[in-house]
Amino acid sequence: MAVTASADQQKLLLDLQAFDTKLIQLAHKRAGLPEIVAAQDLEVELGAIKMRLVAAQTEASDLKLNQLKAESDVEQVVARAKRDQDRLDSGAVSAAKELESLQHEIGTLAKRQIELEDIELEIMQAYENAQQAVAELTASEIETAEKLATVAQSRDELFTDIDFEVDSVTQQRNEIAKDLPADLISLYDKIRADQGGVGAALIHRGSCQGCHITIDAQELDQIRKLPAEAIARCDQCRRILVRTAESGL
Ligand SMILES: [Zn+2]
Repeated sequence: MAVTASADQQKLLLDLQAFDTKLIQLAHKRAGLPEIVAAQDLEVELGAIKMRLVAAQTEASDLKLNQLKAESDVEQVVARAKRDQDRLDSGAVSAAKELESLQHEIGTLAKRQIELEDIELEIMQAYENAQQAVAELTASEIETAEKLATVAQSRDELFTDIDFEVDSVTQQRNEIAKDLPADLISLYDKIRADQGGVGAALIHRGSCQGCHITIDAQELDQIRKLPAEAIARCDQCRRILVRTAESGL
């Protein structure tokens, strides 16, 4: 059976359409908030900083161990040279060959000490650099986390505002929908799903406000002859055409 509705009910369909269009705009606005992308970007940035921080912390702690090892290497050489020197100074060694061997070892140990101290210095420098990197990345982590918190907060506030408006508009559209015939709503919803969210349109000065195509004279004449309760449809876009005083019929 063909769907029918009174002229007033058909006009209400236009009010319903206005609220539904508003809901689409709100959904679009919510999904397109720049704060969403900004927060995602900051999350990615923060994740990268955290990974670099862990790497820098690992490097610093490895270098600290290397530094302790280098210090101990130097201490061992120094202690051994001191032992040799003490022995030499004590006068306990008198054999020429043994004296010569002892002096030679002291010389070798002195060279070795310089080499080991150079290595120790290099490691200390690298350790300081790694500590500096840890400090910088820690500061960067805090700064980025704060930025993210600020952006996420404004995003969530905007979500709350939009959701509030969506609730209000939904209530208003449901208030209208509940008084309209169920089969009219079903038809309207089906067309809306197929036609980018617009199910009903006004005929304004002889053209469909859904697809903005001028309705030809013959079709306009047919619409004019329809009973008030009949549902007119656009030949071009199949939307429900609502007739009012402004329709130019
Ligand atoms: Zn149309």
